[in-house]
Amino acid sequence: MLDVVVIGGSFAGLSAALQLARASRSVLVIDAGEPRNRASAAAHGVPGWDGVPPADILARFRADLAGYPTVRVLENRAEHITGEIDAYHVITASGQSFDARRIILAHGVRDILPDLPGLSGAWGRTVLHCPYCHGYEVKGQPLAVLATGPMAAHQAHMLRADWSDDVTVLVNGAEGLDESGLIAAGLKIEHRAPVRVARAEGIGVWFHDGTETQFAAVFTAPKVSLAQSPADGLGLGMSDGPMGPYVRTGPMQQTDMPGVFAAGDLATPMWNVNFAVGDGARAGTGCHQSLLFPDFIPALEKDAT
Ligand SMILES: Cc1cc2nc3c(=O)[nH]c(=O)nc-3n(C[C@H](O)[C@H](O)[C@H](O)COP(=O)(O)OP(=O)(O)OC[C@H]3O[C@@H](n4cnc5c(N)ncnc54)[C@H](O)[C@@H]3O)c2cc1C
Repeated sequence: MLDVVVIGGSFAGLSAALQLARASRSVLVIDAGEPRNRASAAAHGVPGWDGVPPADILARFRADLAGYPTVRVLENRAEHITGEIDAYHVITASGQSFDARRIILAHGVRDILPDLPGLSGAWGRTVLHCPYCHGYEVKGQPLAVLATGPMAAHQAHMLRADWSDDVTVLVNGAEGLDESGLIAAGLKIEHRAPVRVARAEGIGVWFHDGTETQFAAVFTAPKVSLAQSPADGLGLGMSDGPMGPYVRTGPMQQTDMPGVFAAGDLATPMWNVNFAVGDGARAGTGCHQSLLFPDFIPALEKDAT
Protein backbone atom coordinates (compact mmCIF):
# COMPACT_ATOMS: atom_id res chain seq x y z
CA MET A 1 0.00 0.00 0.00
CA LEU A 2 1.53 3.29 -1.15
CA ASP A 3 0.73 6.53 0.63
CA VAL A 4 0.01 8.39 -2.60
CA VAL A 5 -0.25 7.80 -6.34
CA VAL A 6 0.19 11.01 -8.35
CA ILE A 7 -1.26 10.78 -11.85
CA GLY A 8 0.63 13.12 -14.17
CA GLY A 9 4.28 14.00 -13.64
CA SER A 10 4.55 17.52 -15.02
CA PHE A 11 4.58 20.88 -13.24
CA ALA A 12 1.68 20.19 -10.86
CA GLY A 13 2.34 16.50 -10.22
CA LEU A 14 6.08 16.80 -9.56
CA SER A 15 5.52 19.81 -7.30
CA ALA A 16 3.00 17.79 -5.27
CA ALA A 17 5.34 14.80 -5.10
CA LEU A 18 8.21 16.95 -3.79
CA GLN A 19 6.20 18.04 -0.75
CA LEU A 20 5.35 14.42 0.05
CA ALA A 21 8.94 13.31 -0.61
CA ARG A 22 10.14 15.72 2.05
CA ALA A 23 7.88 13.93 4.55
CA SER A 24 9.41 10.61 3.44
CA ARG A 25 6.03 9.36 2.24
CA SER A 26 5.86 6.56 -0.31
CA VAL A 27 4.79 8.10 -3.61
CA LEU A 28 4.41 6.76 -7.12
CA VAL A 29 4.18 9.32 -9.93
CA ILE A 30 2.70 7.87 -13.12
CA ASP A 31 3.43 10.04 -16.13
CA ALA A 32 2.61 9.71 -19.82
CA GLY A 33 5.28 12.28 -20.76
CA GLU A 34 3.25 14.85 -22.69
CA PRO A 35 3.23 18.16 -20.79
CA ARG A 36 0.79 20.64 -22.25
CA ASN A 37 3.39 23.18 -23.41
CA ARG A 38 5.65 20.58 -25.04
CA ALA A 39 5.24 22.21 -28.49
CA SER A 40 6.79 25.48 -27.30
CA ALA A 41 10.50 26.12 -27.62
CA ALA A 42 10.49 28.05 -24.33
CA ALA A 43 8.29 28.69 -21.32
CA HIS A 44 7.92 32.32 -20.27
CA GLY A 45 6.84 34.13 -17.14
CA VAL A 46 8.17 31.45 -14.82
CA PRO A 47 10.47 33.12 -12.27
CA GLY A 48 13.99 31.68 -12.49
CA TRP A 49 13.11 29.82 -15.68
CA ASP A 50 11.96 32.59 -18.05
CA GLY A 51 12.73 31.53 -21.63
CA VAL A 52 13.84 27.99 -20.69
CA PRO A 53 12.51 24.98 -22.70
CA PRO A 54 9.71 23.21 -20.80
CA ALA A 55 11.52 19.87 -21.02
CA ASP A 56 14.61 21.37 -19.32
CA ILE A 57 12.52 22.74 -16.45
CA LEU A 58 10.81 19.38 -15.96
CA ALA A 59 14.14 17.52 -16.14
CA ARG A 60 15.32 19.64 -13.22
CA PHE A 61 12.09 18.96 -11.29
CA ARG A 62 12.67 15.23 -11.80
CA ALA A 63 16.33 15.52 -10.80
CA ASP A 64 15.25 17.16 -7.54
CA LEU A 65 12.95 14.22 -6.80
CA ALA A 66 15.64 11.65 -7.61
CA GLY A 67 17.31 12.50 -4.29
CA TYR A 68 14.34 11.18 -2.31
CA PRO A 69 14.28 7.38 -2.03
CA THR A 70 10.56 7.09 -1.22
CA VAL A 71 9.45 8.54 -4.57
CA ARG A 72 9.36 6.67 -7.86
CA VAL A 73 8.38 7.96 -11.31
CA LEU A 74 6.82 5.44 -13.67
CA GLU A 75 6.57 6.28 -17.38
CA ASN A 76 3.13 4.94 -18.19
CA ARG A 77 -0.51 5.98 -18.46
CA ALA A 78 -3.02 5.49 -15.65
CA GLU A 79 -6.22 4.02 -17.05
CA HIS A 80 -8.62 3.53 -14.12
CA ILE A 81 -8.97 4.56 -10.51
CA THR A 82 -11.41 2.80 -8.21
CA GLY A 83 -11.89 2.58 -4.46
CA GLU A 84 -12.28 4.98 -1.56
CA ILE A 85 -10.22 6.89 0.97
CA ASP A 86 -7.37 4.76 2.39
CA ALA A 87 -8.00 2.12 -0.30
CA TYR A 88 -7.64 3.43 -3.84
CA HIS A 89 -6.64 1.18 -6.70
CA VAL A 90 -4.95 2.40 -9.89
CA ILE A 91 -4.49 0.37 -13.07
CA THR A 92 -2.06 1.44 -15.80
CA ALA A 93 -2.23 0.98 -19.56
CA SER A 94 0.33 -1.83 -19.30
CA GLY A 95 -1.83 -3.65 -16.73
CA GLN A 96 0.16 -2.88 -13.59
CA SER A 97 -1.91 -2.13 -10.53
CA PHE A 98 -1.14 -0.10 -7.44
CA ASP A 99 -2.92 0.46 -4.12
CA ALA A 100 -2.69 3.81 -2.39
CA ARG A 101 -4.29 5.65 0.50
CA ARG A 102 -4.55 8.92 -1.46
CA ILE A 103 -4.64 10.02 -5.09
CA ILE A 104 -3.43 13.28 -6.62
CA LEU A 105 -4.79 13.98 -10.09
CA ALA A 106 -2.38 16.17 -12.10
CA HIS A 107 -2.82 14.85 -15.62
CA GLY A 108 -3.69 18.17 -17.25
CA VAL A 109 -6.18 18.71 -20.03
CA ARG A 110 -6.27 17.96 -23.75
CA ASP A 111 -6.40 20.90 -26.17
CA ILE A 112 -8.99 20.71 -28.95
CA LEU A 113 -7.48 22.95 -31.62
CA PRO A 114 -9.55 24.69 -34.31
CA ASP A 115 -9.82 22.46 -37.35
CA LEU A 116 -7.74 24.48 -39.84
CA PRO A 117 -5.11 22.83 -42.05
CA GLY A 118 -1.58 23.68 -40.91
CA LEU A 119 -2.66 24.98 -37.51
CA SER A 120 -1.66 22.04 -35.32
CA GLY A 121 1.88 22.04 -36.81
CA ALA A 122 2.34 25.67 -35.78
CA TRP A 123 0.76 25.25 -32.32
CA GLY A 124 2.97 26.64 -29.54
CA ARG A 125 5.31 28.31 -32.07
CA THR A 126 3.36 30.83 -34.16
CA VAL A 127 -0.17 29.75 -33.19
CA LEU A 128 -0.44 30.75 -29.54
CA HIS A 129 -3.04 30.87 -26.82
CA CYS A 130 -1.68 33.13 -24.10
CA PRO A 131 -0.36 36.70 -24.39
CA TYR A 132 1.38 36.42 -21.00
CA CYS A 133 3.25 33.30 -22.13
CA HIS A 134 4.27 34.31 -25.65
CA GLY A 135 3.02 37.84 -26.40
CA TYR A 136 6.20 39.72 -25.48
CA GLU A 137 8.17 37.93 -28.22
CA VAL A 138 5.81 39.26 -30.94
CA LYS A 139 4.89 42.62 -29.44
CA GLY A 140 4.47 45.57 -31.80
CA GLN A 141 4.00 43.26 -34.81
CA PRO A 142 0.88 42.38 -36.86
CA LEU A 143 -1.11 39.80 -34.89
CA ALA A 144 -4.31 37.87 -35.57
CA VAL A 145 -6.88 36.32 -33.29
CA LEU A 146 -8.61 33.27 -34.73
CA ALA A 147 -12.04 33.30 -33.09
CA THR A 148 -13.44 30.12 -31.60
CA GLY A 149 -16.14 31.90 -29.54
CA PRO A 150 -16.66 34.92 -27.28
CA MET A 151 -13.23 34.49 -25.59
CA ALA A 152 -11.69 35.77 -28.84
CA ALA A 153 -12.87 39.28 -27.93
CA HIS A 154 -11.12 38.98 -24.56
CA GLN A 155 -7.86 37.92 -26.23
CA ALA A 156 -8.16 40.62 -28.90
CA HIS A 157 -8.76 43.44 -26.41
CA MET A 158 -5.79 42.28 -24.31
CA LEU A 159 -3.47 42.12 -27.31
CA ARG A 160 -4.60 45.51 -28.64
CA ALA A 161 -4.21 47.16 -25.22
CA ASP A 162 -0.69 46.06 -24.33
CA TRP A 163 0.98 44.08 -27.13
CA SER A 164 0.27 45.53 -30.59
CA ASP A 165 -1.77 48.27 -32.28
CA ASP A 166 -2.15 46.01 -35.35
CA VAL A 167 -4.49 43.20 -34.35
CA THR A 168 -6.97 41.51 -36.73
CA VAL A 169 -9.83 39.35 -35.51
CA LEU A 170 -10.47 36.44 -37.90
CA VAL A 171 -14.18 35.96 -37.18
CA ASN A 172 -14.12 32.43 -38.63
CA GLY A 173 -17.90 32.04 -38.29
CA ALA A 174 -17.80 32.50 -34.50
CA GLU A 175 -20.97 33.83 -32.91
CA GLY A 176 -21.39 36.19 -29.98
CA LEU A 177 -18.56 38.63 -30.84
CA ASP A 178 -19.26 42.30 -30.10
CA GLU A 179 -17.81 43.54 -33.39
CA SER A 180 -18.68 47.19 -32.87
CA GLY A 181 -16.88 47.10 -29.49
CA LEU A 182 -13.85 45.53 -31.15
CA ILE A 183 -13.78 48.15 -33.92
CA ALA A 184 -14.19 50.95 -31.36
CA ALA A 185 -11.12 49.58 -29.54
CA GLY A 186 -9.06 49.83 -32.75
CA LEU A 187 -9.19 46.19 -33.83
CA LYS A 188 -9.57 45.08 -37.45
CA ILE A 189 -12.26 42.55 -38.36
CA GLU A 190 -11.79 39.93 -41.10
CA HIS A 191 -14.92 38.06 -42.21
CA ARG A 192 -13.34 36.04 -45.01
CA ALA A 193 -12.99 32.42 -43.93
CA PRO A 194 -9.41 31.26 -43.39
CA VAL A 195 -8.72 27.98 -45.22
CA ARG A 196 -5.22 27.18 -44.01
CA VAL A 197 -2.20 28.53 -42.18
CA ALA A 198 1.45 27.86 -42.84
CA ARG A 199 4.48 28.55 -40.76
CA ALA A 200 7.34 30.62 -42.19
CA GLU A 201 9.12 33.51 -40.43
CA GLY A 202 5.77 34.52 -39.00
CA ILE A 203 2.60 32.80 -40.06
CA GLY A 204 0.66 33.09 -43.32
CA VAL A 205 -3.13 32.83 -43.31
CA TRP A 206 -4.77 31.91 -46.62
CA PHE A 207 -8.39 32.83 -47.32
CA HIS A 208 -10.88 31.07 -49.58
CA ASP A 209 -10.37 33.69 -52.31
CA GLY A 210 -6.71 32.61 -52.60
CA THR A 211 -5.18 35.69 -50.95
CA GLU A 212 -2.71 35.46 -48.10
CA THR A 213 -2.00 37.72 -45.12
CA GLN A 214 1.15 37.47 -43.00
CA PHE A 215 1.08 37.85 -39.22
CA ALA A 216 3.83 37.48 -36.64
CA ALA A 217 1.51 35.13 -34.73
CA VAL A 218 -2.07 33.93 -34.60
CA PHE A 219 -3.65 33.71 -31.15
CA THR A 220 -6.56 31.37 -30.52
CA ALA A 221 -8.39 29.96 -27.51
CA PRO A 222 -8.74 26.18 -27.84
CA LYS A 223 -11.50 24.28 -26.13
CA VAL A 224 -10.18 21.77 -23.61
CA SER A 225 -11.30 18.27 -22.76
CA LEU A 226 -11.00 16.03 -19.74
CA ALA A 227 -12.44 13.06 -21.62
CA GLN A 228 -10.83 9.70 -20.88
CA SER A 229 -9.49 10.84 -17.53
CA PRO A 230 -8.58 7.82 -15.39
CA ALA A 231 -10.83 9.46 -12.75
CA ASP A 232 -13.91 9.21 -15.00
CA GLY A 233 -15.49 6.49 -12.88
CA LEU A 234 -15.12 8.42 -9.60
CA GLY A 235 -17.93 10.86 -10.42
CA LEU A 236 -16.00 13.93 -9.26
CA GLY A 237 -17.79 17.28 -9.09
CA MET A 238 -16.95 19.52 -12.04
CA SER A 239 -17.15 23.25 -12.79
CA ASP A 240 -17.66 24.92 -16.17
CA GLY A 241 -14.84 27.19 -17.35
CA PRO A 242 -15.01 29.40 -20.45
CA MET A 243 -13.03 26.87 -22.49
CA GLY A 244 -14.22 23.62 -20.92
CA PRO A 245 -14.83 21.73 -17.68
CA TYR A 246 -12.43 21.50 -14.74
CA VAL A 247 -12.38 19.48 -11.53
CA ARG A 248 -13.85 21.30 -8.52
CA THR A 249 -11.55 21.46 -5.48
CA GLY A 250 -11.55 22.96 -1.98
CA PRO A 251 -8.96 25.16 -0.26
CA MET A 252 -6.31 22.40 -0.11
CA GLN A 253 -7.09 20.99 -3.59
CA GLN A 254 -9.20 18.11 -2.32
CA THR A 255 -11.98 17.15 -4.73
CA ASP A 256 -15.41 16.24 -3.42
CA MET A 257 -14.20 12.63 -3.19
CA PRO A 258 -12.36 12.30 0.17
CA GLY A 259 -8.72 11.40 -0.36
CA VAL A 260 -8.61 12.47 -4.03
CA PHE A 261 -6.79 15.74 -4.67
CA ALA A 262 -6.46 17.58 -8.00
CA ALA A 263 -3.99 20.24 -9.16
CA GLY A 264 -2.79 22.04 -12.26
CA ASP A 265 -4.66 22.72 -15.48
CA LEU A 266 -7.31 20.06 -14.85
CA ALA A 267 -8.43 21.84 -11.68
CA THR A 268 -8.58 25.48 -12.79
CA PRO A 269 -9.81 27.57 -15.73
CA MET A 270 -6.58 29.66 -15.53
CA TRP A 271 -3.60 27.88 -17.04
CA ASN A 272 -0.04 28.75 -16.15
CA VAL A 273 3.09 26.89 -15.01
CA ASN A 274 3.32 28.97 -11.82
CA PHE A 275 -0.30 28.23 -10.91
CA ALA A 276 0.29 24.52 -11.57
CA VAL A 277 3.40 24.46 -9.36
CA GLY A 278 1.62 26.38 -6.58
CA ASP A 279 -1.53 24.27 -6.68
CA GLY A 280 0.62 21.13 -6.87
CA ALA A 281 2.43 22.15 -3.68
CA ARG A 282 -0.94 22.78 -2.03
CA ALA A 283 -2.22 19.37 -3.13
CA GLY A 284 0.95 17.67 -1.85
CA THR A 285 0.80 19.32 1.56
CA GLY A 286 -2.98 18.93 1.75
CA CYS A 287 -2.65 15.26 0.96
CA HIS A 288 -0.02 14.83 3.66
CA GLN A 289 -2.18 16.65 6.20
CA SER A 290 -5.08 14.38 5.32
CA LEU A 291 -2.91 11.30 5.90
CA LEU A 292 -1.97 12.56 9.35
CA PHE A 293 -5.17 14.30 10.43
CA PRO A 294 -8.28 12.97 8.68
CA ASP A 295 -10.46 15.80 10.05
CA PHE A 296 -8.14 18.66 9.10
CA ILE A 297 -9.13 19.18 5.46
CA PRO A 298 -12.89 18.79 6.05
CA ALA A 299 -12.63 21.51 8.75
CA LEU A 300 -10.82 23.86 6.32
CA GLU A 301 -13.43 23.17 3.67
CA LYS A 302 -16.22 23.95 6.10
CA ASP A 303 -14.54 27.26 7.01
CA ALA A 304 -14.20 28.16 3.34
CA THR A 305 -17.91 27.79 2.57
C1 LIG B 1 1.37 25.77 -26.32
C2 LIG B 1 1.38 26.16 -24.86
C3 LIG B 1 2.37 26.98 -24.37
C4 LIG B 1 2.38 27.35 -23.02
N1 LIG B 1 3.35 28.20 -22.58
C5 LIG B 1 3.37 28.57 -21.28
C6 LIG B 1 4.36 29.48 -20.81
O1 LIG B 1 5.20 29.98 -21.57
N2 LIG B 1 4.31 29.83 -19.49
C7 LIG B 1 3.36 29.33 -18.63
O2 LIG B 1 3.38 29.68 -17.45
N3 LIG B 1 2.42 28.46 -19.06
C8 LIG B 1 2.40 28.07 -20.36
N4 LIG B 1 1.44 27.21 -20.80
C9 LIG B 1 0.52 26.61 -19.83
C10 LIG B 1 1.23 25.42 -19.16
O3 LIG B 1 1.73 24.56 -20.16
C11 LIG B 1 0.29 24.66 -18.25
O4 LIG B 1 -0.34 25.55 -17.34
C12 LIG B 1 1.05 23.58 -17.47
O5 LIG B 1 1.71 22.70 -18.36
C13 LIG B 1 0.08 22.80 -16.59
O6 LIG B 1 0.79 21.82 -15.90
P1 LIG B 1 0.08 20.49 -15.39
O7 LIG B 1 1.11 19.78 -14.60
O8 LIG B 1 -1.22 20.80 -14.80
O9 LIG B 1 -0.29 19.68 -16.72
P2 LIG B 1 0.58 19.23 -17.95
O10 LIG B 1 1.80 20.06 -18.11
O11 LIG B 1 -0.36 19.18 -19.12
O12 LIG B 1 1.06 17.77 -17.59
C14 LIG B 1 0.18 16.69 -17.45
C15 LIG B 1 1.03 15.43 -17.45
O13 LIG B 1 0.18 14.31 -17.17
C16 LIG B 1 0.41 13.30 -18.15
N5 LIG B 1 -0.80 12.48 -18.29
C17 LIG B 1 -1.96 12.76 -18.94
N6 LIG B 1 -2.84 11.75 -18.80
C18 LIG B 1 -2.22 10.82 -18.03
C19 LIG B 1 -2.60 9.55 -17.54
N7 LIG B 1 -3.83 9.05 -17.80
N8 LIG B 1 -1.70 8.85 -16.82
C20 LIG B 1 -0.47 9.34 -16.55
N9 LIG B 1 -0.06 10.56 -16.99
C21 LIG B 1 -0.92 11.28 -17.71
C22 LIG B 1 0.76 14.07 -19.41
O14 LIG B 1 1.41 13.23 -20.35
C23 LIG B 1 1.65 15.17 -18.82
O15 LIG B 1 2.99 14.75 -18.68
C24 LIG B 1 1.38 26.85 -22.14
C25 LIG B 1 0.38 26.02 -22.63
C26 LIG B 1 0.35 25.69 -23.98
C27 LIG B 1 -0.75 24.82 -24.51
